[in-house]
Amino acid sequence: MPTVGDARMWAAEELRRVEVESPILTADLLLAFLLDYDRVRVLTSIKDILPDEIWSKFQALVHRRASGEPLQYLTGTREFYGLDFRVTPEVLIPRPETELLAEKAIDLMKAWPPPGPIFVDVGTGSGCIAVTVARHVPAAVGWVLDISPRALEIAGANARRHGVEGRVHMVQADLLSCFLPVPCFDLILCNPPYIALDDCDSLPSVVRDFEPHQALFGGRSGLEIYERLIPEAAPRLVSGGYILLELGSGQVSEVSRLVEISGIQVETVMDDLQGIPRCLVGRKSAGVQNGQNSHHRGRSTFRPD
Ligand code: GLN
Repeated sequence: MPTVGDARMWAAEELRRVEVESPILTADLLLAFLLDYDRVRVLTSIKDILPDEIWSKFQALVHRRASGEPLQYLTGTREFYGLDFRVTPEVLIPRPETELLAEKAIDLMKAWPPPGPIFVDVGTGSGCIAVTVARHVPAAVGWVLDISPRALEIAGANARRHGVEGRVHMVQADLLSCFLPVPCFDLILCNPPYIALDDCDSLPSVVRDFEPHQALFGGRSGLEIYERLIPEAAPRLVSGGYILLELGSGQVSEVSRLVEISGIQVETVMDDLQGIPRCLVGRKSAGVQNGQNSHHRGRSTFRPD
């Protein structure tokens, strides 16, 4: 029977052979997952014998990773903004650049006057945006939408895991048409599917072959969800309310134009660490429409399909 150290070296070699990124780290994370250790404990246990059952599970996971499956689907978790999220192949794996949107939303929401903001997270996937903002802003209540019932189950599990399930209401919906077109949200948050179908072939296979296409692709141009969402969002935003949209690479001018023609002003666009304009912050000017601030607003305007 191999030791933890032997298993680690075997895996690193297998993964290196097929050019998986960070082979040693991957081996450590898979061992940590199977042994229920943290990474440091894996490193201090390299002389321990690996139980048979764990060794065969480990080999199976290493082979799956070597044939391209994302590590996060193998371990079922992904960290986002310091919180652990459950992920399955039914949801997009949260990306670090999306933390930009979450952070900006948290800043705006913390400054909201009592009784706190009502937000909606459109296309929640794993729930990483909604759960993170709800966790950091105790006065916030939100609606969490996804077209996929399986994604909503995962988002619900993540909401329970982080103790915010009482403040986020899950609704299976295609964008915002299930809400009356009256001002009902203080913030509309969305990281839509924005990859152009035409770019499918140039995606890395770890993305293209394993992540849900419904969560990746925004039609042929990549802009189709923005084209539908933004006109639906504008009438549902209170005056003074914000829309925060994640952008795909090269989409800033087209999405800004869609936002401006809907009557919302583009306040800022934040770049990600690679210098790509990644998060658009739009604000509906005060006086455009009269919103009220009541925690029942969102609920009373919801119309079940
Ligand atoms: N809101 C989720 C995320 O940011 C899912 C996004 C999506 O599926 N396009 O990870």
